[in-house]
Amino acid sequence: MLLIALLPLALAARASATEPVGTVPRSAAGPPAPEQASAAGEGAAAAGPEILLTFDDGPRLDLTPRVLEVLDRRGIKAVFFVNGWRFQGHSPEANKARALLQDIMRRGHLVGNHTVHHLFLCGQRGPRIAEREIEDNAVLIEEATGMRPLLYRTPYGAHCPSLSATLRKLGIRSTGWDIDPQDWRLRDPDKILAYMQQRLRVLRRRAIVLFHDVQPATVAALPRLLDWIDEENAARRAAGRPEIRYIDYGYLLPEYPIVPPIVDGLGRILVDAVRRSPLPSLLPFSLRGHGRGDGSATISPM
Ligand SMILES: [Zn+2]
Repeated sequence: MLLIALLPLALAARASATEPVGTVPRSAAGPPAPEQASAAGEGAAAAGPEILLTFDDGPRLDLTPRVLEVLDRRGIKAVFFVNGWRFQGHSPEANKARALLQDIMRRGHLVGNHTVHHLFLCGQRGPRIAEREIEDNAVLIEEATGMRPLLYRTPYGAHCPSLSATLRKLGIRSTGWDIDPQDWRLRDPDKILAYMQQRLRVLRRRAIVLFHDVQPATVAALPRLLDWIDEENAARRAAGRPEIRYIDYGYLLPEYPIVPPIVDGLGRILVDAVRRSPLPSLLPFSLRGHGRGDGSATISPM
């Protein structure tokens, strides 16, 4: 029974594993780095509007739990790209922040790597600090959650040849974004909401949304945005138009290791191969759809 139950997920995992990871942060620094490059895949337009919510620069003890409550009420699974300076060491705050990371994981969200100190990794000292900033944060996250982060996002959306080389060496592909309300700049729930409504009204395919759970205005805007999406979807249903769907991070995850073919007593192959997830408890939330991005990313200074 277990195998039968897992098979569709395993097959979906194989299909999703062929997709590119992340989207392209548009930058003045030049064309997108190969490890970040992706465009909406074939059929993405037909899939209808889909959004993956991501929250950067946390965790923040007073705000991130409020985001978790709002997401949990609706069963939405998000990615939190965190900075290790907030949870390293043994201060009471750091201990609480590590417990918060565990809580994020327990609730079925994913903790991603956003470097320890959120430094610009394409400046003069970039080649010297990039690897340690990324690797040290991976270690801090693993110590806090018991799991090495599977996703990475570069601070400021920076990309340059030296960082590309570092990411290649580490075997990491950066996750970008498609919709950036620049909440760090607006700092106003009404404006954040208005921007998101404007973008979502015309969204036709998959998009990664960049929020910051360290911004009070974002945390205030989030429940209002989700209420608006409910209303928008009700109107779309009534009009027979595709609804805005929430998707989770499953399609971004690395390929899973293969479990050898499963053969029955007569030597017949029942399952040719199953990919074993590093996150078995999270699998049911993941793995659907194809294509992504509306290609209009901007750079966040947060
Ligand atoms: Zn950031």
